[in-house]
Parts: sequence; C-alpha cells; structure tokens
Amino acid sequence: MSASSHDHPELGPPELIEVADGVYAYVQPDGSWYINNTGFVVGPSSVISIDGCSTERRTRAYLDRIATVSPAPVSMLINTHHHGDHTYGNSLFGTATIIAQEKCRDEMIAFGPPGNTGIWEPVDWGNVTLAPPTLTFADRVRLWSGDRPLEVSYVGQAAHTSNDSLVWLPEQEVLFCGDLLFNGGTPFLLMGSLRGAIDVLTNVVAPIPARVIVPGHGAPCDHQLIGTVVGYLEFVLAIAQRGIDAGLSPLETARQTDLGEYDGWLDRERIVGNLHRAYADLGAAGGADGSSADGSSVDVIAALTDMIAYNGGQPLSCYA
Ligand SMILES: [Zn+2]
Repeated sequence: MSASSHDHPELGPPELIEVADGVYAYVQPDGSWYINNTGFVVGPSSVISIDGCSTERRTRAYLDRIATVSPAPVSMLINTHHHGDHTYGNSLFGTATIIAQEKCRDEMIAFGPPGNTGIWEPVDWGNVTLAPPTLTFADRVRLWSGDRPLEVSYVGQAAHTSNDSLVWLPEQEVLFCGDLLFNGGTPFLLMGSLRGAIDVLTNVVAPIPARVIVPGHGAPCDHQLIGTVVGYLEFVLAIAQRGIDAGLSPLETARQTDLGEYDGWLDRERIVGNLHRAYADLGAAGGADGSSADGSSVDVIAALTDMIAYNGGQPLSCYA
C-alpha cells in the first residue's frame, strides 16, 4: 500500500444533490473512514457550508464544486462535530466564520491536526492546519442565508460524540444530522454514547418533520434510517450485556458475535469500538458512576488497537 492517497479504484466521484432549492448535499462515495458528506446553502451574497472534508485534496474539490454553483464566498462553516473527516479541511475555508458547539472546539484542539498514527492506512492529508471554530455556542444558534433560517442545535448529550449538532432548515424541511446517522456504513459511537444516541435519535431527531435527511456518511435518506440505526445500537447494547455477564472483553465479545444483517455494512470493525463504549454505557467500565454520558470515559487508543486486532492485525482501510 502506497503512502500516497488516491481514490480507491471502485469509488466514484462525489455527487452533488440539490435536495431543496439552493440547498445541496455533497455525497462522497463510499462513505467509509474519513470519507464524509458535507452540504451547503446558497444565499444571495454568500454560501453557508455544513462541514468540510478530511484532506486538502477532498476539501479543495468540494470548494471547487461549490464554485460551480455560486461565485459567492463561503462566509460561514458549521462543524456538526469534531471528527477530522468533517473538520480537518477547515483551514481551507479562508475567512469563513467557523461555527460549532463549544465542546467541539475543545475536542478539536485536544485531538490536534491530522497525522498518520498507524491506526488507519496512511493518508496524504495535504496542507491543512488546525482551524478550530471561531464562534461557539452552548445550545443553539440561528444562521441566516438571506431570509432563510438555519437552526443549528446541540443535541443535548453525548451521542455520536460529546458535541453533535443538527442543522435544520425548517422552510426547506431538510435536516443535516452529521454522524448521528450513517447510511450503509457501521455507526461509530466510541467517542459518544450508545444510550445517548438512542435517546437523541428517538426523541430529538425522529420528531423533526424532515422531508430529506442528509446523514454524515452515505446517501440522503428519510426517517426510515433512524429506526435502522437505533436497531443496530440496541443490538450492540444487547450483545455487550451478554459479554459483560459472561466475563468477556469487548474484543472477545466482538469475535463471538455474528453481525447478521449488519455484516455487510462498511467498516464492520467498528463493532469493537462500539462495544468498548457500550460496556461503559452499561457500567462495566468508565467513570466513578459507570456512566459514559460525558462521552469521555473509555480508553480510545485501547479500543482502536482492539479494532486493528479484530481486523486481522491490519491497519483500518482508509481511502481518504
Ligand atoms: Zn464522526
């Protein structure tokens, strides 16, 4: 495997989908590790982007694609959460105000700029520098694209991460939900909470009357995907409880688990990280009260190392 980064031969080009008038989803196949979705809203004199991409190459391709739709500059960039596939490209957005929940800024700074750690196959990240949010909020903020509002709201608890936000366009009935949903890929909860995610998906996301939902990875969808993902999270919690009761480690539990209907989803090794988090959610590890509601009580490096073990000792595939 070369250290240089090129699209996997089977990956098609990113797809630009106008999901409502002037509202676009930018969908990057195949949605696996570090290949995320973004989106943007075109206003009369500026563009608002929802998330950036992981590498310089992918982010520049995204910015070039925006320019084919509007000559206006990107004036605001929303980060739905701190993960690098959504934020490493921030520094390429020029003078845009970078907006995120306040814990997103903290986590981005704690994780730092991208590097090749050996967890994933090496990636050519290009010339990107750490660019944390420049405008943070605790609960919610309303942005305006001309006369069209974008409601940006923190989901209220740890879910996919500690700092997930939704971007809701009430007039267009379009919801950008970041990595609370994966479409065709395995959800990844290591830095969040399974129980929190189930609560958020059921009680925060599902009631939103969205006509179109743009997930963080995979094709735009409707409410049906919410039930599919909740079903997976409940499956992981159930096998985690059985593993705890049997005295098995998260890795041992993963190795004994038949993923069944979830076996064909991308990045199946995430089951191991998800089990580490599920064990904490269920009180078998983590903080003094056993809760992982703060999304921070799991040894992330140990969990990632276990994911490599589950993957046959090979670094996790990455086509970013
Ligand atoms: Zn993420």
